Amino acid sequence: MPAPNMREPVVGIDLGTTNSAVATVEGGRPRIIPNRAGSRLTPSMVGFTPQGERLVGEAAASLAETHPSRVAWATKRFLGRRFSPELAQEARGTLPFTLVSGPSGDTRMRLADQLLPLTQVSAMVLGELKADAEAFFGRAVRKAVITVPANFDDGQRQATKEAAQVAGLQVLRLVNEPTAAAVAYGLTKGFEGRALVFDLGGGTFDVSILQVQSGVFEVVATGGDPVLGGEDFDHRIVQWLLAQLPPDRVEEVARDTVSMRRLKVAAEQAKRQLTHEQEATISVVELGDLAQGRGGLELSTALTRSFFETLCEPLSRRCLTVCEQVMAASGLTPDAVDAVLLVGGMTRVPLVRRLVTEFFAKAPATGLNPDEVVALGAAVHADELASQSGAALLIDVASHSLGVEMQGARVRRLVEKNTSIPSMAREVFLPSTSGQKEARIRIVQGEGEYTRDCRVLGEVLLKELPRAERGDVPLEVHFELSSDGTLSVKATSLRTGAMESLKVEARPNLQQQELERLEREQAEHAEAGGGAQAEENFRRLAERAEKFLQVLRRSVQENATEDALAALQRAEALVAEARERMSAGAVADAAARAELTRRLSLLVAGR
Ligand code: AMP
Repeated sequence: MPAPNMREPVVGIDLGTTNSAVATVEGGRPRIIPNRAGSRLTPSMVGFTPQGERLVGEAAASLAETHPSRVAWATKRFLGRRFSPELAQEARGTLPFTLVSGPSGDTRMRLADQLLPLTQVSAMVLGELKADAEAFFGRAVRKAVITVPANFDDGQRQATKEAAQVAGLQVLRLVNEPTAAAVAYGLTKGFEGRALVFDLGGGTFDVSILQVQSGVFEVVATGGDPVLGGEDFDHRIVQWLLAQLPPDRVEEVARDTVSMRRLKVAAEQAKRQLTHEQEATISVVELGDLAQGRGGLELSTALTRSFFETLCEPLSRRCLTVCEQVMAASGLTPDAVDAVLLVGGMTRVPLVRRLVTEFFAKAPATGLNPDEVVALGAAVHADELASQSGAALLIDVASHSLGVEMQGARVRRLVEKNTSIPSMAREVFLPSTSGQKEARIRIVQGEGEYTRDCRVLGEVLLKELPRAERGDVPLEVHFELSSDGTLSVKATSLRTGAMESLKVEARPNLQQQELERLEREQAEHAEAGGGAQAEENFRRLAERAEKFLQVLRRSVQENATEDALAALQRAEALVAEARERMSAGAVADAAARAELTRRLSLLVAGR
């Protein structure tokens, strides 16, 4: 057996709506890989500077402060969804994006004079995480387990796979986010019962109920609210801040994107502060119609935790209503849940924790960082798959119902949503083939009663049927849904034995040619080493290393063990070397920077 460090590195990636994270297993334990700027989370943001340089992560978040219209965020909400005017409308309602249709009906966005497939936006984030992992390992990283929301349909899963391909990553498996969280919490080892995963992130709320029995792991129900998350909490604070401005200037500030961005950043910071403190001071300068050179407005105020809770309790209660609905759909009550797992940065908010504890009459598991737990679980699973060491059996459920179209465009469901997969179903129909020699069977996905409210996945055409009276030709339709969600349909005429089949592969979002072009471009970008962003990241990392050194010095003063002193000496030597080499121009030299980045990020990660 090769030594563990000789094996090709594999990683777990949480490609989140607001933030993403990458993790790996080292010495049997999962750990987050810090990015090249030294942070454990990377904002899922992509932007372009006025000079046309691409920025991803923290650098894009900084750009959003000055050029909000040049930065895209929360695009995962639209990833893998077919373009429609309703989708564009939905985007306009929540985010300042213009969505347009791609050549094959996929969704693209206009950003800083460019037209980007959303798949490419996700690929840029994945590419950044891949490069962070490569800086950490000092070698190429090609294989990953990537997580997706449990309710992603096959189009959204396909788009995630395409994004990985563009980023140069081979997907070992897509794993549902709640399943990854439960794996991180060790529920595959010894736990028997039902776990509810309560995932409140930046933009979405998801609930999943998992059944764990004899080592088998099944998502038995999922639900959620795609437009309920931390952003909505921030929005409430922003509205409250706006109400404190002079009434005659509120409208002007509300129309100014830079001012609104400043208020949003201040609101989010205050929300975070209130997780640890009872009061947050908020101070925002330069508000107004900045485009017309009319700024000058300042806002200074304080928000108490209790008032924040009054503002946001209705939002938190909406989460519990969703929990109730998901449980009711599977005939469960809160006391039937044996463990509650918290996922998503918003579950740090004390109000959310309190309401969850009251609702389930039990304290949720909080041992792992809620914004890291999904990436950690993905890393554990990636490691199991790569080492083939008795990988946990993760069973999925159908994320949407599947059926066939009947007369009057009504839908007859063969596989209900939440049925565990793999799954099979068959049904005999007497379609109205009166006077016709063929029967057309449309396969639909969705919960609507009529085809128009569902998605048509394809058609099976049975030809050469005997001319018959209405309803005289019995046809058997057989559905087989594989464990990766691929649907195979077989239709057989019970009279003639004629059979036709159809494999419903997820429709690609991007044409092969475009995929390959984007893949080449991404590889060239990675090769180039990231230009100004890499230098900026390096400066941030060096700052973090200096801060880390201060913390280390304080802790050594308090507890001067031999080991601590040796660690401090090593850290001081490294930071001094970094300072020296930076002043000698190492920041601009890609190879020198890469080598220093690796050593400094290990230091910041506490190794
Ligand atoms: P996620 O999508 O899981 O990364 O969640 C991000 C959301 O969690 C954002 O709305 C953040 O503002 C919020 N968040 C992260 N950390 C905290 C914290 N310490 N207190 C309050 N909210 C937080």
